[in-house]
Amino acid sequence: MIAVQGWKIGKVFGITIEIHFTWLIIFGLILSVVTLEIGQTAPDASRASLWATAIITTLLFFVCLVLHELAHSVMANRLGAGVSRITLFVFGGVSQLKNEPDSPASEFKVAIVGPLTSIILAGLFYAIYLGLNGLGVSSVWVLAANWVARINLALAIFNMLPGFPLDGGRVLRSILWSAWNSLDRATRVAANVGQAFGYILVGLGFLMIISGNWGGLWPVALGWLLASAAAGSYQRVQLQQALGDVYVHDLMSSPVRTIPAQVTLAQAAYDHFMAARFTAFAVEQEGAIVGMIRMEQFQPIPRERWEHTTVAEVMEPLDPETMLVNSDKMAVDAMMQMAEHDLGRLLVTDHSGNIIGIISSSDVRRLVRVKSGLGM
Ligand SMILES: [Zn+2]
Repeated sequence: MIAVQGWKIGKVFGITIEIHFTWLIIFGLILSVVTLEIGQTAPDASRASLWATAIITTLLFFVCLVLHELAHSVMANRLGAGVSRITLFVFGGVSQLKNEPDSPASEFKVAIVGPLTSIILAGLFYAIYLGLNGLGVSSVWVLAANWVARINLALAIFNMLPGFPLDGGRVLRSILWSAWNSLDRATRVAANVGQAFGYILVGLGFLMIISGNWGGLWPVALGWLLASAAAGSYQRVQLQQALGDVYVHDLMSSPVRTIPAQVTLAQAAYDHFMAARFTAFAVEQEGAIVGMIRMEQFQPIPRERWEHTTVAEVMEPLDPETMLVNSDKMAVDAMMQMAEHDLGRLLVTDHSGNIIGIISSSDVRRLVRVKSGLGM
C-alpha cells in the first residue's frame, strides 16, 4: 500500500474517504478537458449548460472512483483485512488496508473487484448514452454519458496494467505468490514490472511530446508516479521483512524528554541538549506537549540571538496528523510516516491520545542493522 494522506470528506460503511492534494490537480485537468471536448462537439451549446455538464460529468467521474475503491474496501473487510480509509489521489484512489492480505486468494479477490466495478460502470454509462441518444436528448448530456463510460473503461484498463502497486500488479503478485509460495519474491517481480511499465509510459509520453503532442505530459506524470510507487511499495515490504513483527511500543523511548516552551535557546542548548546528549526534545507548555525541537533548528539562529530567542519561537508546532503515531502501530508504518513527511522522529500516543514516548528513524534502522548483523 502506498502511504498517502489527505483531507477527510466523508464516511461510507464506516470507511473514511479522503482527498489527497494531487487529486485536485487531476480534478481541475479533467474539468478543463471535459469542457473543451464537449464544447468542440457541441459548439452551439450555451456557456452555462456547457459548464453545468462539465461539472456534473467530473463529479460523476469522482463518484465512479469512490465506487471502485469501495468495492476493494468492502471485499477486504469481508475477508478480514480491515480498511479504514480510502484516499483519492492522482492514480485514482487507494484503499488503505490495515494488514496486507493473508493469502494469494484474498489478495486476488480484493484487487480484481475494483477494475470489475469500473467495467460494469462503463457498461452502465454506455447503456445510458445509447438510451439518451435514442430519445433525442440535448447533445451535451449524450456526450457526457459517453465520456463517463469511456473514462471508466480507461480506468479499468490502466488499473489492470500488471505492475505493482496497481490492481493488475496485485493480481499478478497473487498469482506469482501462489505459484512460488514466496510473498517477497512475488512482490519483487510485480514491483519490477510496475517500474518497467512506469518507465515505458514515461518514454511513450516523451515520444508524444517530441512529436508535438503536449498530451504526452499525462503518461510522463503517471509513469513517473507509477515507477516511484512501485519502488516505494517494495521498500516497504522489504523493511517489513527485515523488521518482522515489531511494534512502535517495542522501539520507543519513554518517558518523553521535554523542554519548557519559554526557556531560551541558550538554556536549552546547555541545560538540555548538551546535558542529556539528546538530539531532539518535545516542547511542553502548561503540562501539554505543543511541539518538537531538534538540534538542527538552532543552526540558522546566530549565536548572539540565543539569549533572546525562546524555544517556542523556533520549535516545530505539534501537527497531530503527521507527528503522532499510536504505540500499537507496526514500526514499519511509523517509518513510512516519517519518510512521507520528512520527519526523523514521531511522538508516540496511547489509546487515550496521551503522549507516552518518542520513536526515531535511527532507532528503527539500528534494529535492522543489528538483526542483519546477527543473521536474523
Ligand atoms: Zn483499484
